[in-house]
Amino acid sequence: MCGIVGAVAQRNIEEILLEGLRRLEYRGYDSAGLLVVNSKGHVNYLRRVGKVKELAAAVTQYNMHGITGMAHTRWATHGEPTEKNAHPHISDYITVVHNGIIENHEPLRNSLIERGYCFNSQTDTEVIAHLVNWEYKQCKDSTLLEVIKKAIPQLRGTYSILVMDNRIPGILVAVTSGGPLVIGIGIGENFIASDQVALLPVTRNLIFLEEGDLVEMTCHNINIVNKAGHLIKRPHIESNIQYEACDKGKYRFYMQKEIYEQPVALKNTLEWRLVQGQINLNELGSQAYDLFSKVQHIKIVACGSSYHAGMVARNWFEELADIPCDVEIASEFRYRKSVVRSGHLIITLSQSGETADTLAALRLSKKIGFIGSLAVCNVQGSSLVRESDLVLMTKAGTEIGVASTKGFTTQLAVLLMLVVHLGRLNGMTKSVESNILNALQELPKRIEQVLSTDKNIAMLAEDFVYKYNALFLGRGNQYPIAMEGALKLKEISYIHAEAYSAGELKHGPLALIDIDMPVIVLAPNNALLEKLKSNIEEVRSRGSHLYIFADQDASFISNKGITIIPLPYVEEIVSPILYAVPLQLLSYYVALIKGKDIDQPRNLAKSVTVE
Ligand code: GLU
Repeated sequence: MCGIVGAVAQRNIEEILLEGLRRLEYRGYDSAGLLVVNSKGHVNYLRRVGKVKELAAAVTQYNMHGITGMAHTRWATHGEPTEKNAHPHISDYITVVHNGIIENHEPLRNSLIERGYCFNSQTDTEVIAHLVNWEYKQCKDSTLLEVIKKAIPQLRGTYSILVMDNRIPGILVAVTSGGPLVIGIGIGENFIASDQVALLPVTRNLIFLEEGDLVEMTCHNINIVNKAGHLIKRPHIESNIQYEACDKGKYRFYMQKEIYEQPVALKNTLEWRLVQGQINLNELGSQAYDLFSKVQHIKIVACGSSYHAGMVARNWFEELADIPCDVEIASEFRYRKSVVRSGHLIITLSQSGETADTLAALRLSKKIGFIGSLAVCNVQGSSLVRESDLVLMTKAGTEIGVASTKGFTTQLAVLLMLVVHLGRLNGMTKSVESNILNALQELPKRIEQVLSTDKNIAMLAEDFVYKYNALFLGRGNQYPIAMEGALKLKEISYIHAEAYSAGELKHGPLALIDIDMPVIVLAPNNALLEKLKSNIEEVRSRGSHLYIFADQDASFISNKGITIIPLPYVEEIVSPILYAVPLQLLSYYVALIKGKDIDQPRNLAKSVTVE
């Protein structure tokens, strides 16, 4: 998952590397490390457990400088988050940072041990350092690039790697196989990183590497060899993305700020697309019209919260646009044979646009017969955006909290507009469209109303602090929202939570119900409410305390064993978007009271860039 930054320059680069790491911390934050070589050839090497700020403090403390080197912020896959396992890893004079997983690290490790190498870490990465060292020793006159060419075929897995020979520090070699890398071209200096945002303080002149590229980089030269072994030129792209260095303003946590930003984020996502009483997605261009006129089936592929957004969109596509749609977790889709029908469009959802499994699913879709791809994404210039045929951006603004909030609700808003756009081609009437449009326009105001009741939800949160489990129930399009609510609670408060479609209770989960199991129910006043009420009674009669989020005017009354949390009325179609918000608040307050690291919960990262 991790973030990589490297630089070859004629000035000190440690601050550039550290700023790059700060901007890449969304990719992992369990340890960080840096190795720089100064103009006299002296090697400075530091690693720290914890966030980039720990490393930055140590770099200042030890007054470390260097003109060439590399840095890494880790999300551990192999080996605990300890200093020994932090990157860079070194084998004598070979230094390596790595994003990804070396799947055959065990046999490689064993054979390198037989050849006399000692391992200092439990990581898969260390095998790369020793392997390059070994290959170097086999052919002493070879360049680092030639040596790495020999090492690469021995590695299995997905990776982006940066390698340096500390004795010849003016050369960095990089290789990418399944992980993103972008080069930043400077004047008399060059840079490389996992994401362009890390490079923007020093350059906007970029080269995006492609799968299998091998790069040799010095201050003045960049040579790229493609997968087929040919020296090639890749286009230089001027980045136009804005990096919003966000501070928390008056808020204590980014997640809190992002929850409260939702009315504005939704307005930004919606307003310019809702013109003259119509939903307008002209931004997609004429290519979209050709593609959409052929669409007969939709496959939505996503992970985490985006998967829940996809579940809601699946129902919308089938109900409103009359297009058969299924939704699948990207890591499942990519490893099974799926039937692709004629006119099958793939829609990928990812806030960051760098989710490894979703990207892999997109790449796979190009080989197996989908007619095209559309991405819904929040980050301009991300891999998903660059590689998809069509893109709809959410305008949520930078989302930093690991638990997605405004990223999720703006995704739903965009998906609903897309459903209307496609529905129109399938005969959706003007009155249905204008109902949806009005409902979307109302939504920011209604969400503001929900946010203004935050104190009630904060009080409610106290009931959960000493609970070990919680159950979320919903039906129809509230079922995915129940799943999203459960995910939020798990992610940031570490309370085990599950979501069930309320109709499924009697098929097993009812056995879990007792007084220690709070049950959260999403109960807007819709066609399923009567059915849901029966499910609620089934739970109530078994002793659980129920927390029911319901329309203000619904016929629920707080009672012994039942707490009603009234929510403003919205059109049924947009109620999944509205009902997500109080659940975000609930998990936020539970985590706050429990004193958890809300923005960077343990074991997680914002963008999941390993599979
Ligand atoms: N597999 C490597 C490790 O565990 C790299 C993980 C990452 O991409 O951060 O150290």
